[in-house]
Amino acid sequence: MDRWDWVGIRAFGPAIAVGVVAVVSLVAFSRLTVSPYLAGVIDALRWVPFLTLAWSLWLVLAPAYRLWQWHRGVGLSCPHCAGPLGHERSGYASRGGAYRRCYACGNNTNHRHYE
Ligand SMILES: [Zn+2]
Repeated sequence: MDRWDWVGIRAFGPAIAVGVVAVVSLVAFSRLTVSPYLAGVIDALRWVPFLTLAWSLWLVLAPAYRLWQWHRGVGLSCPHCAGPLGHERSGYASRGGAYRRCYACGNNTNHRHYE
């Protein structure tokens, strides 16, 4: 696998995983029988596929926007390999705080290097 395969996996892998959860939950919850004791629970569970599908859509759009910005030259770049950086994660204060992971090389970049 080359560098761009890893960019695609790191950028859109979580969206694919959540999309699979949405499809599996849609199939599983559509087969639930309605019981008078579980009526409220089943009504709540029917929202799970739609919410996970919306989350999956967000997990596609946000990295796509970051990759588009990086491609235009205005997005954040990795100081190690100049690849696109992912979303900001909250890190431990003892380790320097917030950081982003590079989609290309997988290294973590502290917020001091991209702000
Ligand atoms: Zn990198």
